[in-house]
Amino acid sequence: MLVVMQEGASEAQVQQVIDRMVQLGFNVHRSTGVVHTVLGGVGGKQEFDVATFEVMEGVQEAHRIMSPYKLANRTFRPGGTVVKIGGGGHPPVEIGGNQVVVMAGPCSVETRDQIERAAEIVARGGAKIIRGGAFKPRTSPYSFQGLGENGLELMRAAADRNGLLVVSEVMDLTQIPLLVQYADILQVGARNMQNYNLLRELGRIRKPVLLKRGIAATIEELLLSAEYILAGGNYDVILCERGIRTFENYTRNTMDISAIPVVKKLSHLPIVADPSHGTGRRDKVAPMARAALAAGADGLLMEVHHDPDHALSDGAQSLYPAQFEELMGQLRMIAPAVGRSI
Ligand code: PEP
Ligand code: MN
Repeated sequence: MLVVMQEGASEAQVQQVIDRMVQLGFNVHRSTGVVHTVLGGVGGKQEFDVATFEVMEGVQEAHRIMSPYKLANRTFRPGGTVVKIGGGGHPPVEIGGNQVVVMAGPCSVETRDQIERAAEIVARGGAKIIRGGAFKPRTSPYSFQGLGENGLELMRAAADRNGLLVVSEVMDLTQIPLLVQYADILQVGARNMQNYNLLRELGRIRKPVLLKRGIAATIEELLLSAEYILAGGNYDVILCERGIRTFENYTRNTMDISAIPVVKKLSHLPIVADPSHGTGRRDKVAPMARAALAAGADGLLMEVHHDPDHALSDGAQSLYPAQFEELMGQLRMIAPAVGRSI
């Protein structure tokens, strides 16, 4: 870490800072300039809050040099992580390799007929994984909350008939065994990105986890949430940029495309993009999907419904089947231009 003392800071103040750094296990290197004294700390082992230095007498600024996440850091696996999913009758799918993986389907599983149609549409379009919530985190308690286990059963059957893998959301600890039974990837929704008990428990399972960015979460917070899962021994974590809340309210969220290359640099974990929740409007989904692929996303998570106008949730952002097919064609053209296949 680095601490810059204020101009005219007293020797006692400098010494207090040095003592604190030593307490934290740092070797302190002091550089006395004409105006400022700068203290460089190396080798600290303990976790610390940089603000404790910022508020000390005589300190002008303090900076952390090492990132607070270790296992999620790119330096942990410089070559990047490829998450292998499925098997057991399905051709395994890899996320984080050369191939860009499309996960698509309705916001919620509604009926057997609806999820069967969705599975046919997404498989025909070239998606490898079907999405659909059986447990739905809805803003209003009066909105459709999902079919629960029955929804998972229906989606698993529809997926198996169409050679697809399944991603579905887990909302709390008690649902983990059910999701493990029916899904190939467990999704942690934006609202739960900082549910640390849930994350810790997902570190203990041996199934991939799709971790969505919280609506007001920084990239560092997203990576620290991933760290919880990795620290438990589950290294199969896929990150997801799904838009963040900003002052702009034309779109439902602001799709942070720049998070994709930023995460790629900071972390070895694969990152996918969700332009459906990222924009909230179906006419904006295709442009953002194309942009995310071009920006380096390892996959796309998108909502598609056979009849979006009658969907029980997120109809306005769900693609019509023909739009999905057209978009898949465009993605197949973009992928080779950025050195990827789809
Ligand atoms: C979803 O993917 O169905 C969902 C609820 O997304 P988010 O958690 O990103 O809002
Ligand atoms: Mn949705």
